[in-house]
Amino acid sequence: MTGIVIAIDGPAGTGKSTVSREVARRLGLAYFDTGATYRVATLTCLREGVDLTATSDVAAMVATMNVELVLDPRNPHVMLDGEDVSQLIRTDTVALSVSKVATNLEARPILQQMQRDVIAGETEGGFSGGKGVCAEGRDVTTAIAPDATVRVLLTADEDVRVARRAGEGADAATVREAVLGRDKQDSTVVSFHEAADGVVTVDTTHLTIDEAVQAILDLAAERS
Ligand code: C5P
Repeated sequence: MTGIVIAIDGPAGTGKSTVSREVARRLGLAYFDTGATYRVATLTCLREGVDLTATSDVAAMVATMNVELVLDPRNPHVMLDGEDVSQLIRTDTVALSVSKVATNLEARPILQQMQRDVIAGETEGGFSGGKGVCAEGRDVTTAIAPDATVRVLLTADEDVRVARRAGEGADAATVREAVLGRDKQDSTVVSFHEAADGVVTVDTTHLTIDEAVQAILDLAAERS
């Protein structure tokens, strides 16, 4: 008996993280934020003074970094060399540089393999004890877990996405850049605005978090 995998893609501001975390919590699954792997890779490069445009140096750093991901949906966190960096990876400094790592075609496959290993581990054991995982990120339904039990693309109108992030506190220009600028850079290596075959689109423009969660729970119930 192997666990289920729920894969959720989508751009920033669609509610992806909040919804995925809640789905994991309700179903007793691990919660895997794949974006955190790109963020911690960026943080470690910035800390170690690795030039983010030096493709191979970044890849070498990523291949050797000492990261532990805690996949508890009630308290997910990221450890780097034993230090909890969960807050540090969310700073603007990291957010504005992360696309450089995500679009590095030597580093990206290393992180993608790490992600596939984490997901496979959760279907057999891991934090969930084999119940499975809800994994979110921009290419999870396509490159990372194309065979997932449930594959969902969350979308929302652009203005709604920017407004949601603005509601989290930062100033308007920074928010617009963080949301749209980052999506634009990321789009050069991953396609996350259109649903691939077999992926169900859930438009959250007019949905509450609870309604979006319920839509995914319904799909999970249908398919497992
Ligand atoms: O989801 P989050 O905003 O934390 O992701 C941070 C960054 O990591 C994204 O802007 C993108 O550059 C990268 N990313 C990615 N593929 C994923 C998850 C994140 O390229 N599956």
